[in-house]
Amino acid sequence: SPHLSTTPARRLYFVDSTVPAASPAPVASWAPTSWRECTAHQQPNWPDSDAHQAVVDRLSTMPPLVFAGEARELTDQLAAVARGEAFLLQAGDCAESFETSADSIRDRLRVILQMAVVLTYYTGVPVVKVGRIAGQFAKPRSSDTEMVDGVELPSFRGHIINDIGFSESDRLPDPERLMTAYNRAAATLNLLRAFTKGGFASLTSVHQWNREFIADSPAGQRYEAMADEIDRAIQFMKACGITGDTLADLRQVDFYTSHEALLLGYEEALTREDSLTGGWYDCSAHMLWIGERTRQLGGAHVEFLRGVNNPIGCKVGPTATADELLALCDALDPYRRPGRLTFVTRMGANKVADLRPPLLSGVSDAGPQPVWPCDPMPGNPFATDDGHKTRHFEDVLAEVSGFFAAHRFAGTNPGGVHLELTGDDVTECLGGGAEVLTEDLSSRYETMCDPRLNGSQSVDLAFRLAELLRATSDLGA
Ligand code: PEP
Repeated sequence: SPHLSTTPARRLYFVDSTVPAASPAPVASWAPTSWRECTAHQQPNWPDSDAHQAVVDRLSTMPPLVFAGEARELTDQLAAVARGEAFLLQAGDCAESFETSADSIRDRLRVILQMAVVLTYYTGVPVVKVGRIAGQFAKPRSSDTEMVDGVELPSFRGHIINDIGFSESDRLPDPERLMTAYNRAAATLNLLRAFTKGGFASLTSVHQWNREFIADSPAGQRYEAMADEIDRAIQFMKACGITGDTLADLRQVDFYTSHEALLLGYEEALTREDSLTGGWYDCSAHMLWIGERTRQLGGAHVEFLRGVNNPIGCKVGPTATADELLALCDALDPYRRPGRLTFVTRMGANKVADLRPPLLSGVSDAGPQPVWPCDPMPGNPFATDDGHKTRHFEDVLAEVSGFFAAHRFAGTNPGGVHLELTGDDVTECLGGGAEVLTEDLSSRYETMCDPRLNGSQSVDLAFRLAELLRATSDLGA
């Protein structure tokens, strides 16, 4: 089937039994430093390049944050997504803050787990969970400077580079921030590992994940009813004598980390040769992606990421052509390894239907079978009269809906979604079940960069996505 198959939900490593484990492939004339010979867009101007190099040298002696074997495991799971046997949920903050509290990290994980349960329950397909978390500290900007009340200063580029405050010293790139980013990523990852393996993520806790402010919303009430059904199913399994390993499996989830590999000095410093396979891995996260603004062929970002063996994402905006994407496939995945390459399309609701069919079939007819998730966030921004940058829930949904339709037309697999969200009760995007109105935006507009879906909008979106998936595939037939 060109769409998600009716394979029942099961542990992904069983789904993958027909595909050999992703193993490193030789990469022609590449070194962790070879990107330095190419043009690197979106890099800060470090005021003191020696100080920057000193931090990079220190970072290159620090322990890796992830293990190469985990990146290979994620590649295998993404291969299942490419085959239509699983769905990718990649989600998290637009730009993480160094000040993020433990509660906020837990709540972001919680809302992703809630969304994954909704999707799994209603589609019967495993959900591969990848956070924009534990390293999403750098942001590409459309302008190098920002003007406020006649004062022009360098743009905020994420906490790994400078601060959001609007003064000269706040906006000066500070290389010590690279080390802070590494330490924050390590602490966040440690907490995520504890939560996902230590019982918090247990399916027996589905009720507890429903936070107060979500529980009161229409999506929260719908979620509560589903959680009752899951509880009853677990009780039923226990009453039937299903215990031991099968129930123990419900206590833990696999959760992976990802971020935009924007700051190449940082990524190079965390790139290590795997002693088991001899391949190079960027050990700052399990999955790295190339942004829409840095995906130039021959550019430094493509050059760097073609040599690391992690699963790689690449954002694809409305100007992309099938030939461009095929050239990116040749550069980033010349051996066509299943699960290696993910094209995250971010077209905008009114462009998705027109542009997707030639792109999708242009790539897949030529051979490559990348994972195709939809990022419905960057293509749908607008500013309100009082200057809030926002997005409307209905536009987000319209892009996802057009994305499913385009895949149906092309006969390719809609692989998942990529979202900017938070578990906090913010008011940054309009609409959703517990409707956020224009006049609500200023009450809790907390993002450091672009507007994110709040907890109840995210759970609402998961239900709407599940409905779309069931309607546009042979699922549940
Ligand atoms: C992002 O996802 O943070 C981002 C900047 O997206 P894009 O590269 O698609 O604009």
